[in-house]
Amino acid sequence: MTEESTERRQLSRRSLITGTLKAGAGAVLLGAGVLAAAQPAAAAIAPSQQGWRYCKICKALVYDSPYNNPCPGSATGHDRSGSFNYWISYDDQDNTYSQTGWRYCNKCQALAWGGGDYPCKAGGTHNKTGSLNYALAHNLGAGDGWQQGWVFCNRCGELYFKSERANSRCTVNAFFGHQDNESYAYQLMFGWVD
Ligand SMILES: [Zn+2]
Ligand SMILES: [Zn+2]
Ligand SMILES: [Zn+2]
Repeated sequence: MTEESTERRQLSRRSLITGTLKAGAGAVLLGAGVLAAAQPAAAAIAPSQQGWRYCKICKALVYDSPYNNPCPGSATGHDRSGSFNYWISYDDQDNTYSQTGWRYCNKCQALAWGGGDYPCKAGGTHNKTGSLNYALAHNLGAGDGWQQGWVFCNRCGELYFKSERANSRCTVNAFFGHQDNESYAYQLMFGWVD
């Protein structure tokens, strides 16, 4: 049993935990800057946190933090310029459209899967201490306000934008970038550039 297959099993088990069918993660708090209602149309309950950004260098989702933010591809840290403002729900439930267990790393600012210890660009493994329990939407169809194309890197545990994999930078393998074996297809709710 490889580490990778263990991770896959953990993720698969998550996918089998079904609960009350409801709207996808992040469907509430449609405040300023959010484009449109979530899909499906049913109301959701979980709160959401804005301020998540796409790093154009490492291609991962990172929080918009003023603190030290080591990036696998840049000595000056993540480059969040031009990114949408992404919203991530927390305190949600696992179900067909939502996977809980994602955490914020307070060393590199990335969103990382909490089901294992993955290498952090800042040294050691991602530090999830004090993080909210974030939930990511998956298996949703295309919908206004949702961006498709996000996947889990089974090397560094981070969420990254799959179509940019060829140019991505992963802490574990900077030359080949992130990997996404057996990842769900995740969707993120986003607002305008700000
Ligand atoms: Zn970066
Ligand atoms: Zn980290
Ligand atoms: Zn990676």
